[in-house]
Amino acid sequence: MPNIQVLPQELADKIAAGEVAERPSAVVKELVENSIDAGASSIEVEIRKGGIEYIRVSDNGCGIEASQVETAFLRHATSKLRSIDDLYSIGTMGFRGEALSSICAVANVEVITKTAETEEGVLLRLERGSVCERETIACGDGTVMVVENLFENIPARMKFLKKNSTEAGYVADVLGRIALSRPDIAFTYICDDKEVFSTSGDGKLQNVVLKLYGVEHAKAVIPVDYTEDNVRIAGVIGKPELARGNRSRQTLFVNKRYIKSNAASKVVAEGYRNSIMVGKFPFFVLNIEIAPECVDVNVHPAKTEIKFSNESRIYEILYHAVANGVRGGGAKVIPAEKTADNNSTPTRSASENTPKQAYTPSLGTYSTGREERVSPKLVREYLDSVIPKNEPENKAETAKTDSGMVYSDFNFLDEELPPDKVLTVREEDEPSEVSASEPEEKEKYVPPSVPPSAIGQIFDTYVLCRCGEEFWMIDQHAAHERARFERLKMDYYSKQRMSQMLLNPIILKLDFSEAQTVLSNLDAYRSFGFDIEDFGSGSIIVNATPYIGSEAEIRDLVLEIAEALGEMSRYSIADFEERLLDMIACKYAIKANRKLNAAEIQEVIDTVIRLESDGIKTCPHGRPIKIVFTKTEIEKLFKRRL
Ligand code: ADP
Ligand code: MG
Repeated sequence: MPNIQVLPQELADKIAAGEVAERPSAVVKELVENSIDAGASSIEVEIRKGGIEYIRVSDNGCGIEASQVETAFLRHATSKLRSIDDLYSIGTMGFRGEALSSICAVANVEVITKTAETEEGVLLRLERGSVCERETIACGDGTVMVVENLFENIPARMKFLKKNSTEAGYVADVLGRIALSRPDIAFTYICDDKEVFSTSGDGKLQNVVLKLYGVEHAKAVIPVDYTEDNVRIAGVIGKPELARGNRSRQTLFVNKRYIKSNAASKVVAEGYRNSIMVGKFPFFVLNIEIAPECVDVNVHPAKTEIKFSNESRIYEILYHAVANGVRGGGAKVIPAEKTADNNSTPTRSASENTPKQAYTPSLGTYSTGREERVSPKLVREYLDSVIPKNEPENKAETAKTDSGMVYSDFNFLDEELPPDKVLTVREEDEPSEVSASEPEEKEKYVPPSVPPSAIGQIFDTYVLCRCGEEFWMIDQHAAHERARFERLKMDYYSKQRMSQMLLNPIILKLDFSEAQTVLSNLDAYRSFGFDIEDFGSGSIIVNATPYIGSEAEIRDLVLEIAEALGEMSRYSIADFEERLLDMIACKYAIKANRKLNAAEIQEVIDTVIRLESDGIKTCPHGRPIKIVFTKTEIEKLFKRRL
C-alpha cells in the first residue's frame, strides 16, 4: 500500500509557486499590484529576455519597514488581511500573501526598500527562497524588486514558456491592462532597453488609450459613465470603426480588477447592434463598479474569472451603459429607487435620447415607459444561448456572415490550380516531405469514365453534378480551400515563393505584443509570401502578400498569423507550417454562401477532379469535399431496389 507523506516544504512551495508565478507576466502582475497597494503614483517595469532573465519593478510607494522585509517573503505573510471578514470588503489587489513567497521559490529575488520614516533603506537578496545577503543602504523612498533567472531551478516550467518576444508581449498586455485600470498612476514599461510605453498618470483614461493604442484610437472613443441600481459602468467604448477581428482590444474590469468574460463581451457587442459587422469586436475599456459583497473575490489570484451574485442584472446594466454610450447619451445616473419602480413617469434624460428602434436589443425588451429595459429572464436566456458550450467551430456559419461584404470583389476564375503541374512538381521536387504530411491514404485513382456534368448550386454553398451513374454534392469552400492549400504547400516546399506586390502597401498599427511577434518573425512571414517591414513606433508596412486580397483580409491574416506565431511554443511544432498555410488558404478560398455562376460551378468540379487525381478527398481540416450517391443507392432510398 502506498505511504501517505507530507510533501517537503520546499516542494510544496514550488508547486504553489507554479500557480501564482506561472510566467513572467504573472510575476509582473503580482509585483505591480503590490506597488499599487503600497500607494505608488509612479511604477516602472523593466524586463529583459522576455522577463525570464530579468524583471525589475520600481515604485514610489510606502516601502517596507526594515524589520518586516524578511517577513514579507514568508508564505501567507500579508499586511492586508487580518480576519475572514476582511475577505469580503477587501479593497486591495492582493491579500493572500502568496506572491513574494512564490516568486522567491522559483527565482532569485533582490529587494531594495525604504519607508519615508527612515533615513536608510534595506537591501535583501534571496536565492532559492533563502536570504543570502542583507545590508542597510542609502536609497529613495519606495521599493525596487528585481527577479532574476525565473524557473532556472524548474526546467519543466521553463520548457512551458513561449519565445522571449511572446512572453514580453504578455507582460505588455498585463501592464497595459493595469495602466488602463489606473489612469491616475504613471506606468513605464521598458523591454530590452527600449521604452515601450509610458503613461502620465494624469487620471485621464483617454490619455492612457492614446499611449497604448495610438492617436487613431484616442480620437475614436466615446466616454461612458452610467449608473443604475448602484452599479456604475465607466470607461470608454470605441466608435464602430475601431472594431477588430478578435477580442484583444476589449478590456473589462470589475472594481478595477481585470476580468475575462466572453459573456460580457457579447453583451457589449449587443449594445452596438446594427453598427458593427458580425464577427468584429468593438473596442472598449470599461470598469464595473459594484459593492464588493456582490462579487466573489475569493478566487485564485492568477485567475481572471469572476462570479456576481446577480449576474443577469449586471449584464443588463452593462448593456444599457453601452447602448446609451453608442447613441451619445453621455454620463447618466439612474437612481436605484426609481429603477425599481416600473410605473414612474418618463424622465427627461431618457426621452431626450435618439431613436430607440436602432438599438433595441435582440434579447427582447419590455417597455417601462421611461427607459428601454430588458427583462432579466430574457438576458439569462440570451446569455445561455451565446455562452459557448464547447461547441465545435462552425466554419460555414462564420462564412455566411462574411458573404457579400469581403468577398464581393473575389474572382474565382483567376485563382485556379496550375493544371497538372501540381502532381509533377511535387513528386519530382519534394516527394517525401509533402506526402509524409498527407493525412489521406492514397488509393488507386480511377478517373471518371465520362466527364461530370454540372446540375447547379444549392444553398449558395454546394455544387451538384452528375457523373455517369453517380450524383455528387460538393462543398465549394472545402474544395477551393483544399486546392489553395495544396498550391501554397507546393510553392512553400519548392521554395518557389508565391508573393504579389501590393499596389498600395498597407500600414498596420499593431499592439506592442503583436508588433514584437511580427517583427521577430519577418523571415517566417517572408517564407509564406509576405514582405513586411518595420514602419516604426509599433507599425508595420505590408508590401507583398501570398495573394491579393482586400485590405481587411490582409490585415486579419497578418494578425492571425502573428497570433499563431505567438502561440507557438519555444520548441516549434512540426506541422506548424501547414497550419499557417491552411490559415492563408482558408482566408482566400471561396466561401460558402456565395452564389456561383456557371463557369465558377464548372471550376469547382474541375478542382475536385484534380484534387482526387492526387488522392485528396478532404479539406485541410479533414471535412469531406464531396459526397456521392450512386444511382443504386438512390434507388434503394426510394425503395425501388432492396
Ligand atoms: P499580499 O500582496 O497578498 O499581501 P505578497 O506576498 O504579494 O502578499 O506581499 C507580502 C507583503 O509584502 C504585502 O502584504 C506588503 O505588506 C509587502 N509588500 C510587497 N511588495 C511591496 C511594495 N512594493 N511596497 C510595499 N510593501 C510591499
Ligand atoms: Mg501581493
